[in-house]
Amino acid sequence: SKVPPIILNNGVEMPQLGFGVWQVPDDEAEQAVSTALEAGYRSIDTAAIYGNEEGTGKAITSSGVPRKDIFVTTKLWNSDQGYDSTLRAFDTSLEKLGLDYLDLYLIHWPLPSRDRYVDTYKAFEKLLADGRVRAIGVSNFLPEHLERLIGETSVVPAVNQIELHPHLQQQASREAHAAHGIATEAWSPLGQGKGLLEVPAIVAIAQKHDRTPAQVVLRWHLQLGNVVIPKSVTPSRIKENIDVFDFSLDTEDLAAISALNEDRRIGPDPAAFDVG
Ligand code: NAD
Repeated sequence: SKVPPIILNNGVEMPQLGFGVWQVPDDEAEQAVSTALEAGYRSIDTAAIYGNEEGTGKAITSSGVPRKDIFVTTKLWNSDQGYDSTLRAFDTSLEKLGLDYLDLYLIHWPLPSRDRYVDTYKAFEKLLADGRVRAIGVSNFLPEHLERLIGETSVVPAVNQIELHPHLQQQASREAHAAHGIATEAWSPLGQGKGLLEVPAIVAIAQKHDRTPAQVVLRWHLQLGNVVIPKSVTPSRIKENIDVFDFSLDTEDLAAISALNEDRRIGPDPAAFDVG
């Protein structure tokens, strides 16, 4: 594969770069994921709430790529938190995907005020023990949520998928993850493609390497050790975003991007987010 793996804390390999499908309608997901698989992506990130597990699954099962060579992630939606409801939601997701096992299952949000993420995660541990998923983890967990989870359950999450891009570099979370052997997966790695890709420092580094700003930002993530899952439905951008393994940023470039941190979220604050 074009994309090198990282080794998760349970020994499972996960491609360091994958394809995200948030906001891709179900009837467009099959085409987008097929384009990504043809371009060499071998990791796909969906979620029950995205409403596109069926289209995503169709692309995977009709691709001709062996199932074992594709790393599939989906996420448990908020309204399904709780032990029994989690087991049911997992079955529904697998059925929609048309798969008989999953690679990575994530709790989408911690919802601390509802206080159900520990029970939810115990159902994840059962799914893991039963061989229905190869790795389990969380998303949008703050260090305090991770500490509680690790204290009250047996399996340290393999991954925490959090909002992370040059304007929100998540130093504290990245250190907490490193201390526990949890992989940091960056959502909205391109900052949703808004102002970030026009920031002069990033444009200048792109010109220096004869690359695009998106490629420079993805390279910054990879060199930091983050897993990234950029999203696009545009074939040329889908290809561009995986074409990042034949150049490197130098220490000066990395420092210039690291100086762009503003601790500024695009998405919600996980401590307060409580919908669904
Ligand atoms: P992203 O940072 O990947 O940005 C995607 C947008 O950037 C595209 O819609 C397009 O407008 C632009 N773009 C993409 N490639 C480009 C290129 N090469 N040049 C110029 N512009 C380009 O944003 P995202 O979709 O929010 O995040 C990626 C994935 O992360 C999602 O698809 C989803 O799988 C995941 N995610 C997870 C959560 C969570 O709560 N766990 C939340 C948001 C996103």
